[in-house]
Amino acid sequence: SASTGNLENPRIGLLLGDGIGREIVPAARDVVDAAVAAVGLPDVEWVPLPIGFEAISTYGTPTPEHTLVALAELDSWILGPHDSAAYPEPFQMQLTPGGMIRKRFDLYANIRPARALSGTQAVSPRMDLVIVRENTEGFYADRNMFVGSGEFMPTPDVAMAVGVVTRQACERIARAAFDLARRRRKRVTVVHKANVLSTTTGLFRDVCREVGQNYPDIAVDDEHVDAMAAYLVRRGEDYDVIVTENMFGDILSDLAGELSGSLGMAASINASETKAMAQAAHGAAPDISGRNRANPTALIMSSAMLLEWLGAARQEAGLGAAAARIRSAVERTVEAGVATADLGGLASTGEFTESVIARVFRR
Ligand code: ATP
Ligand code: MG
Repeated sequence: SASTGNLENPRIGLLLGDGIGREIVPAARDVVDAAVAAVGLPDVEWVPLPIGFEAISTYGTPTPEHTLVALAELDSWILGPHDSAAYPEPFQMQLTPGGMIRKRFDLYANIRPARALSGTQAVSPRMDLVIVRENTEGFYADRNMFVGSGEFMPTPDVAMAVGVVTRQACERIARAAFDLARRRRKRVTVVHKANVLSTTTGLFRDVCREVGQNYPDIAVDDEHVDAMAAYLVRRGEDYDVIVTENMFGDILSDLAGELSGSLGMAASINASETKAMAQAAHGAAPDISGRNRANPTALIMSSAMLLEWLGAARQEAGLGAAAARIRSAVERTVEAGVATADLGGLASTGEFTESVIARVFRR
C-alpha cells in the first residue's frame, strides 16, 4: 500500500504549526536526524507541509487540502501545535488542523505516556504508565460518523449531548492497548463509568475484557474513572497501560501528565494501523513563542515514539534503536540539570536541543 513508505529513505512529514511549533518542530527534526545518523540508518527525507497561520496567509485555510493529500502518501509525520483559538472567525467553526488530520486518517489511538524523568520535580517521581485513549467516539461525539454534531438544543434552554460507543472502535483500541502492554509490564487497566453510564461505557468495558481473553499473558483489571483519578494521585506508579474512552482519556492524561512532569514534557502520538502522527500534548504557547525559550522535550519524545512506531510498522529494528537513543539522551540531559525556563533552568530551546544531540552521539 502507499503507506508502507521506503525502507531505504524514511520519508517523514514536517508540519511546523503555530507559535512555539516553529521552534520545537525543527528541534525535534534535528534530534531525529542525529539519532538516525548515530545508528547508521540512511537520512530521513523530510517533507515540509503548510498548516496553521502559515497556511492561512498563503492558501486561505489553516488545513489546506493539498497538505492532506500529501499526508495520504506518507505513513508518519510530526505536527507542531496550533493556536486555533486565534484563527480568524470563519475557521472557528471548523475542526482544528490536528482534529481534521485525525479525522481524515482515522487516527483512532491517542497514546500518551506519563513517565517521570529523574532530575525533574514530579509529584509522582515513580510514575511510568501509558494512557491509550480512544480518539474517535465516546462523549466527544462531534467526531463521530453516526451523529454529525453530537450536541444539540431541543429548546433554547436545554442542551443535550450524545455519546457513541461501537464494538468495532472498542475492539481496535483494546488491541492497541494489549499489544502495547505486551512490550511493557503486561498489565492493562480498563477505565469506564459503568455504574452510571452502563450502556455506553459498559460496552467499552465488556469489549475490552473480551479482547483481553486473547492475551492470556496480560493481567486485566478495570476501574471507574472517578476512582481512577484518585488512584493515579495516590499510587500512580502501580499502573502500566490504561485504556479508556475519549473524554476520560483526555482528562486522565492531563492528570497523569501533570503528576509525572510538566506540560513541556508530555509526549503523544495519534495512530492507526497504517499511519502515525507525533504531537506534543501542549499548545502553541503564544506567550513565549519566538523567544527561543520553549521546552522541546514533549515533541522530541513524541518523535521518538513515532520512530518506534515506524520501526514496528516497517520491521526495521534500527528505527527502534534510534528511538531508544533519543529517550536516553533526553533523560541524561535532564538529569545533568540542563533545563529550559519552564523547569526553572536557563537553557534556551537551542541549547537544550544541542545538549540532547550531543548525548545522542555519546552514549
Ligand atoms: P491549547 O488550547 O492549544 O491546549 P493552552 O491554552 O492549553 O493551549 P498551552 O499553549 O499549552 O495553552 O500553554 C499553557 C501554558 O504552558 C503557557 O503559559 C505556556 O507558555 C506553557 N507551555 C506550554 N508548552 C510549553 C513548552 N513546550 N515549553 C514551555 N512552556 C510551555
Ligand atoms: Mg490545553
